This record gives sequence, C-alpha cells and structure tokens, in this order.
Amino acid sequence: MDHEAILAALRDNRYEARYFQTKEEAAAYLNETLDGAEIGFGDSGTIAAMGLAKSLAAHNTVTDPSQYPDIRDFVAVGKKCLTTEYFLTSVNAMTESGILVNMDGTGNRVAGSLFGHKKVFFVVGRNKICPTLEDAVYRVRNVAAPRNAQRFGKKTPCAVKGDKCYDCKSPERICNGLVIHYKKMSNMEMEVILIDEDLGL
Ligand code: SF4
Repeated sequence: MDHEAILAALRDNRYEARYFQTKEEAAAYLNETLDGAEIGFGDSGTIAAMGLAKSLAAHNTVTDPSQYPDIRDFVAVGKKCLTTEYFLTSVNAMTESGILVNMDGTGNRVAGSLFGHKKVFFVVGRNKICPTLEDAVYRVRNVAAPRNAQRFGKKTPCAVKGDKCYDCKSPERICNGLVIHYKKMSNMEMEVILIDEDLGL
C-alpha cells in the first residue's frame, strides 16, 4: 500500500487524513483526540476490532447501536447517533484516489456519515483499498456484503453460498442503499484514519 499517495489523494478530496501502522496506534490517537465528547457509532467490524466501544466509553459518552440485537432497540439507538457531536464508522471499500464507498441495509451507518455532526471519522483497514471505483463497488457487493450477511446470519443466497452477490430479492437483503463519497461533505469536518492492517470485512 502506497499510503503517502492515498493520504495525498484523501487530502485532495478535502478530508483530513492520518496513517497508522497498527490498530493500537490508531485507537490511541482517537482516545487522545476524543475526550469528554458525545460519540455515535455506525455499525462497524473495524471499530469493534479496535475495542473503541470500551476505551472511548471510559472518558466519553458513547452510543453504539451494535450493542442492541433487538431491531427496535437498534433503530432507536441508531437514531440517537445521527446527531451526536462525533460519528465513527468505517467503509466497505475505498479507492486509491480517496473515494469512499458504503452499502447499508438499515441506513443508520450511511445516514450518520453524511450529515448532522461536528466531525465524522472513517477508520479504514488496508484490506478496503481498491484501485478504482469499479473495483470498490465490486468489492462492496461481492466481498463485503456477503461476508456481512453471513456475520449477521441472514437468510440470503450470498450468506448461504458465501461466494458472491446474487442481487437477491430476499426480505433479509442487506444491500439497500449505496453511498459513494466523492469528496468531503460540506460544512462538516471529516477525517480518514488509514491503518496498515486488515480490519473489518
Ligand atoms: S443483494 Fe442479496 S445476495 Fe447480494 S450481497 Fe446483498 S444480501 Fe447478498
């Protein structure tokens, strides 16, 4: 991974951008940066792998919908995250040119990434990096989404077969909205934390 080139591309797209070799270093940076703050999470395996729910909650007010398996609770808590001071999430893919791509089923993750906060942090492992936007969308649909469908135990063809997207019509489909962040959203700070480890799906 040419992280200097990727950081330059992200900054060219108006994001703040930082690189860390390990998730521990990135978690330490976020814990130094966010203190006494109100933080909402988008559902993210990357953030879970970094232990941020526990470490940040020790000195911030953290709202994390992934802690609520009941869908009614998940939706209620997800709504609260839409207007927190800070919002932390990941992406399903990111191009070498600094375009971020996210698929969502419920919408809390992509909605929170677009509006309503002082600042949004995207935490991105190296496994999410793709050469082009076409590759990124392919990854989102045929790698990240089937793995997420399996993770959540969905009754979808991709979860059963585990190989690719079948563009299903299942009521349990998790691919309902695709958001492409070409540039940083206006009137909100946004920072990408790039980590040189495989993180998330
Ligand atoms: S559209 Fe359906 S089959 Fe395709 S990845 Fe999403 S849930 Fe799986």
